Amino acid sequence: MSRIRTIKPEFWVDEGVAMLSRDARLLYIATWNLADDEGILRWSADFIRSQVFPYDADMTARRIEKLMAELVEGDFLFPYDTGRVRQHLAVVVRFRKHQRINRAQPSKLPPPPLGDPHVREMYGRRDDMTCHLCGSEIVKVTDDWTNTYDIVPGNHYHEQQAQRLHIDHLVPPSKGGADYPSNLASAHAKCNIGRNNRDIPKGSPHYGGDQLTEQDTDDSLTGSMSDSVNDSVTEREREREREREGERESLFDRFWDAYPRHVAREGALKAWTKAALKADTETIIAGAERYRDDPNREAQYTKHPATWLNAGCWEDDPLPASTNAPKPGGPSSNGSAPVLPYLRTERQRIEQKLIEAQRGGDPDLEAEAAAELAALS
Ligand SMILES: [Zn+2]
Repeated sequence: MSRIRTIKPEFWVDEGVAMLSRDARLLYIATWNLADDEGILRWSADFIRSQVFPYDADMTARRIEKLMAELVEGDFLFPYDTGRVRQHLAVVVRFRKHQRINRAQPSKLPPPPLGDPHVREMYGRRDDMTCHLCGSEIVKVTDDWTNTYDIVPGNHYHEQQAQRLHIDHLVPPSKGGADYPSNLASAHAKCNIGRNNRDIPKGSPHYGGDQLTEQDTDDSLTGSMSDSVNDSVTEREREREREREGERESLFDRFWDAYPRHVAREGALKAWTKAALKADTETIIAGAERYRDDPNREAQYTKHPATWLNAGCWEDDPLPASTNAPKPGGPSSNGSAPVLPYLRTERQRIEQKLIEAQRGGDPDLEAEAAAELAALS
């Protein structure tokens, strides 16, 4: 057990997960802790018993094997044997969908062998049989997703064959991209070839026109990309885009950690993206910290993060002294609750926001304002 992982709330209501027995669900969660950052783990009943159920006398190797089989049959884990000693390993199929990995450590275990059609099909299922290049569905050709029976080098291929599953490397092998799950994505064979063609001048010996070449046929058999044709500009662009995306998310995480109220994260992320275009992100984060540390901020009246961001509140002055706190020398003696100035202005602000949301036809903002109003009363 070496890694901290997270469980999303959706886990408990996921219909696929609900098909598992309760012990299998527990083991499934445990596999995330056992897995490295590629989702790969040792997959033997003895190992799992020692790591996950060390104090459960009733958890025999036989029972654990049944749980493991449940996870495999449900397509939650994919087992494989590899290496000279045929080590038993497995990969958590949708690992990156469950876990957001910030600073991924390279795997020390070998990845599932891409030459195996079952492995390629597993990646296809993981990606919902959707091509990452064109976004449309990948179709099954005859009885095998990745078969190449009909392709004879030099022959014309037919349209259906071109739609078959092809596993693409995001970072090409020539750039050090490996056969690990995080570096692989499903594509149509045709889209992959089309992508290569865009980056290869017509005079180049690698230029393949619109036909599958011997190179491509061989490629789909091994499941790996041809190095020379994949050193593409688009690849570098996508890499940079992913980096930018990562930076944006980690900046947002810093804001989120600093901000004193954690509600409606999705809306907050949207508002953050907009705010980050208007102002320096460090300024916004510093504003969130000031707001968090403001001694006059009251938990129940703390703004939703999206509201705070949308209104540009990082430029706000410190809050006025709380009127709830008894003032020295000025106790209220008549017993009736005073109307708190802060509360009045806060209510006015939200009512104004509600009106603007209704006028602007923004249902999200309207719902948010209504929720804030309800929280106030
Ligand atoms: Zn495609």
